[in-house]
Order: sequence, then C-alpha cells, then structure tokens
Amino acid sequence: MELPFAESWKIKMVEPIRKSTREEREQWIKEANYNVFQLKAEQVYIDLITDSGTGAMSDRQWAGMMLGDESYAGATSFFKLKEMITKLTGFEYVIPTHQGRAAENVLFSYLVKEGDIVPGNSHFDTTKGHIEGRHAIALDCTIDEAKDTQLEIPFKGNVDPKKLEKALAEHADKIPFIIVTITNNTAGGQPVSMQNLREVRAIADKYKKPVLFDSARFAENAYFIKTREKGYENKTIKEIVREMFDLADGMTMSAKKDAIVNMGGFIATRREDWYEGAKGYCVQFEGYLTYGGMNGRDMNALAIGLDENTEFDNLETRIKQVEYLAKRLDEFGIPYQRPAGGHAIFVDASKILTNVPKEEFPAQTLTVELYLEAGIRGCEIGYILADRDPVTRQNRFGGLDLLRLAIPRRVYTNNHMDVIAVALKNVFDRREQINHGVEIVWEAPLMRHFTVKLRPIQK
Ligand SMILES: *Cc1c(COP(=O)(O)O)cnc(C)c1O
Repeated sequence: MELPFAESWKIKMVEPIRKSTREEREQWIKEANYNVFQLKAEQVYIDLITDSGTGAMSDRQWAGMMLGDESYAGATSFFKLKEMITKLTGFEYVIPTHQGRAAENVLFSYLVKEGDIVPGNSHFDTTKGHIEGRHAIALDCTIDEAKDTQLEIPFKGNVDPKKLEKALAEHADKIPFIIVTITNNTAGGQPVSMQNLREVRAIADKYKKPVLFDSARFAENAYFIKTREKGYENKTIKEIVREMFDLADGMTMSAKKDAIVNMGGFIATRREDWYEGAKGYCVQFEGYLTYGGMNGRDMNALAIGLDENTEFDNLETRIKQVEYLAKRLDEFGIPYQRPAGGHAIFVDASKILTNVPKEEFPAQTLTVELYLEAGIRGCEIGYILADRDPVTRQNRFGGLDLLRLAIPRRVYTNNHMDVIAVALKNVFDRREQINHGVEIVWEAPLMRHFTVKLRPIQK
C-alpha cells in the first residue's frame, strides 16, 4: 500500500486557541459592527483573515534571530540577506524595506510619474494604490478566463499577451515598466506559467521596456510550474526560481508571504539605475540602506526563510493542505475559484447566497455567517473591498464577490481544515433561509473594508 502524504515538519512549539459559544460570537460581531477586521484576535478560533505575516517560523529561523547583527550600518545580517537573494534570483542590488508596500513606495517613487500607464496582471491593492496615488493608471491585462470561477485551467494568473501588446503599441511612451504578480493574488492565488513569463519578456524586449515581478508568492508559483508545466518536472524549485527571475529586471517582495517571516520586504534588481534612483527614497521613507526598516535579527530570519521555502517539501506540504481543504469543499458541492490557489480558497459567495441581493453584500454576509457558525474568520474580497467609483460614488458591483479563506503557512493542521469545511457546509445547507445581507452604517472614502461599520438588514 502506498504511504499517505504527511507534513514535511514536526511541531516544536504550540499556541493555544480557544473555542467560543454562538452567544459570545453574536455579541462580539455586533460590537465589531459586523466587520471581522474589528474583532479581537482572541475572539477568533481559526484565523484565515490573511496568510500575510501569520506563518510559523522554523527552528532555524528562530536560531537565526539570536545571531542578528543590529549594527546601524553594514550589519552582517544585511549581507547574509543580500547574498541569499542574489543566489536565488541573480539580482545584484538589494534594498531592504519593512514590508512589500514599502518596497513599492520606494521603487515607484523613482519609476512612476503622473500620466504613466503600468500594465500587468491584476495589480494587488497596495500596488494599484501606489500607482494611482501618483496619478498614473494600473492597466489590468489578465486573461479573461480568470473571471470564470468554475473554469479549470492550470495557469489562470497569466497575462494576456494580446492585451499587453496592444497597451504597448498604443502607449509605449507612457509605460515605465510592465509588472507581473506571481502568483496572481487577486485572481485567487493563481499561478503564471514560465511560458507566459517568456512571452511577457519578448513583448517587453520588442518595446525596450523593463519587467518587474511583484513576487510575494514566487515560490508557490515555482511549485505550480514544476507540477503543472511540461519540461519542469525534474527541475528543482531553486532552478525554476532562477529561471523565472532571469526573465525580469527586478522584483518587489512582501517577505510576509513566501519568506515566512512576520514582517519584512525588499527590492532587488539587476539594474544599477533602478538602485541608484530608488536608494534615496529608502533612506527617506524606510531607513539606512543596510536595514531599510528591518531589525538585523529579522533580516537573518528572512534570509533563512527564503532558503527553506524554495525547497520542494516545504511547498508541497503547504499547497497540499490548501488542496485538501478544496477537496473537502468539493464533497459538499461548495463553489470556489477553481482550481484551488496556492495560498487560499476563494469561495464564490454570489453562487451560494443567491437570495441576498448584491446591494446587501453577499460575500460579507457569508463572512459573518461563517464567523457566527464556528468562530472562523475569513475575509471579504468583494463588493465592499471594491470601494466606490471615484467619479460616480456608486458601489462597484462589476467584479467577483468572494469570501477568501487564506491559509497561514505551517500553522493549522488538516483537522482544522475539516472544521472549516464542515462549518462552511452548515452555512451552505441553510443558504436558502438567508434572505438578507448587511447595510453600511459608516464608511471611509478609501480602503473602506478595514473600518466599515455595518448592520444586518432585518425585514
Ligand atoms: C501582500 C502583497 C503586497 C504588499 O505587501 P505587504 O507586505 O502587505 O505590504 C504586494 N503584492 C502582493 C501580490 C501581495 O500579496
């Protein structure tokens, strides 16, 4: 008999979590204005609000913390980090930052000007924010297939080469660079193929434009290339990672994702002009060039995390857990963005709460129902997150309305996945009785999802 699959690590340290009663949760979610961001973490049993900064570090990473060099300038921890990044990516210039959006802020301060157009595949919200905040346009060139949640294709995060070519043919003079997000977070943690990265590079070369990878989940992307793309089955993750970055000029990185640290990020590039242009902004916004917003100990843990999470076993354990949850949802017929993404399951709320009109925010309603059911905290990636149209001030109902269940790295077991699946099934089973959603009582003009105050609609 073939041995079943099991995790590639064992557990050395544990943190208790607490269940609650439905009465307690009803009180807490009311006090939180039906917005899960306003819950206290201790009011949550299983926390799937994000996979960012919520992973469990390894014993080697913790050991690395003790060896941190906290020198203001020239710390050995910086050089360890730089060496690791250069070894993995080939990029010679490294600027550390306190997290991914800070890397964007520093680099875009140099690269993005008013009136520019930055084409890419579903820019992440902070990326888009840093482009639009500079009065430039983030032009989405993702393949159309990404919008059909039930369609199963292996690389649903790809850039559409035709859309990209059109953008360059029409606006080449306004385009400072092309950005490719690996994996494509917004489209559901969907990977981008090596073939697609090559096509993007070819178009970029034709118009003499640089290519930037938004790399938060580059290792998960490499895992999908190895397991889904022809010709890569026998390559190591590190070989694939190197081949991916050979097709880029530079990267911004949120180390809170695939480097499995709680806080950290960086810019890395082969272009001296980018480094020279951006480094002054690092000093201005983040800190001196050899720490850029991070402690020495954190840079050590980050370097080790990059090394460990570009090994197949670690990635396989992670992705298989997300797949396991997906299989459980399949048993119950619960619809989600298919196939399962690398870091999360995106449940298609509009296909479940069909009695809740879009004006009453089905995905937010489902998020609240799942919390009430079992103390599980997901996150709405839908009509509330989409904010209002800046001109008409109308809600934007054009995109998908999803409940994201983000799985932290090395934190929960498959028993927790079972609890999540069954809790969601219980809500799913009574979906016909859920006829009303929520309404907005108060909202901020931008990024309203973090602070929005809601109340259930009673009729
Ligand atoms: C998380 C993320 C960012 C921003 O990183 P932070 O560390 O949260 O600031 C940028 N791009 C992508 C694709 C991300 O997932």
